[in-house]
Formats: sequence, structure tokens, C-alpha cells
Amino acid sequence: MLHVDVMDGHFVPPITMGPVVMHSIRKITSLPLDVHLMVTNPDHHIEQFAEAGAAWISVHAEVCHHSHRTLNHIRNVGCKAGIVLNPATPLTFAEEAAEAADFILLMSVNPGYGGQSFIPSFLRRSAQLRNWLDNHHLSHVPIEVDGGIKVENAKEVVQAGASVLVSGSGVMHGDIAANIKRMRQVIGE
Ligand code: ZN
Repeated sequence: MLHVDVMDGHFVPPITMGPVVMHSIRKITSLPLDVHLMVTNPDHHIEQFAEAGAAWISVHAEVCHHSHRTLNHIRNVGCKAGIVLNPATPLTFAEEAAEAADFILLMSVNPGYGGQSFIPSFLRRSAQLRNWLDNHHLSHVPIEVDGGIKVENAKEVVQAGASVLVSGSGVMHGDIAANIKRMRQVIGE
């Protein structure tokens, strides 16, 4: 998948891209687009991103006041629905929304900037959430991890229960295809 970080200059300081740019990306790749909405009012933008070609859409629990309604909204426009937690947000926010979610994204950095260092508490949080999901008939709900993922820590995040890994600076320098292949190898070893 291609992970698209949408930032609004309000929920996080930077501004990145909106549905118009997403629409252009959609035209040049057949990869599923995984849209991570780092925006204060995600409900206002779901339809536009679905129309622009999103396959997965995730919204932050910290600004999503009616998470079941929002997740259902995402599903109703034909996309996989995800709830995102910042590193200091209690896991109960994900647990309570899990039945309405197709995936859960745990941030391993505070969102807003690329190139940040991985926050190690992710490993404990992911293992705890994976265990909770497995014990509540939600084994099918994957944990996605975003922030500071590199070849060096890819295996430990998978061992902690993550199965969708987002990597920016960890794979984008040099030969991207070779870097991703190397990351897959490390995970498999
Ligand atoms: Zn992201």
C-alpha cells in the first residue's frame, strides 16, 4: 500500500496534501491508498478522500468524538476504517472502538513530522492491544504501526503484534524497492 499522510496545520503543525493531490496520486499507481487523516475534523473530509480513491481511511481517536459513527461512515463509503492512537492515548480508546474498526493504527512517534525516532513504549502497547483483541474475538483486526520504522526495528514491532508497517525515511532513501525487500527479509528471518 501507499500510505498518505494528510495534515491540516491544526491537529498537527504542518500542512501536507488534500484530496486533489490524492486524486492525482490515484492516477499513477494501482497500489491501495491508505489515508491517515491527521486533521481536527475528519468527518468533514471522509467522502472527498473516498472519492479521490482511498482504500483505507484512518482517523485519530483524540479528535473523533463519535468514533463508531465515524468508522461506520468510512465503511459506508466503501473503505476500510481505522482508528489511530497517539503514543500517550490510552489503549481503551482503541478497545472500545475495535468492533467498528477494520484496523487499528498505533503511532510510534507523535504525528506531524517525518524522520522521528521510534518511541519504545509502542512495543508494550502493541503487545497488550494484540492480546486484548485476540481475547475478544477480534483476531482479524490488524495493528498498523507508523513512525520511526526501519529495517533495524521491523522485526520487533512484528513480534509485538503489528502486521502493517508504515515506513517513510526508513525505506525512502536509496533504492526503495530493495529497502522494502530487505525489511520483508528481516521480518521473515
Ligand atoms: Zn501516517
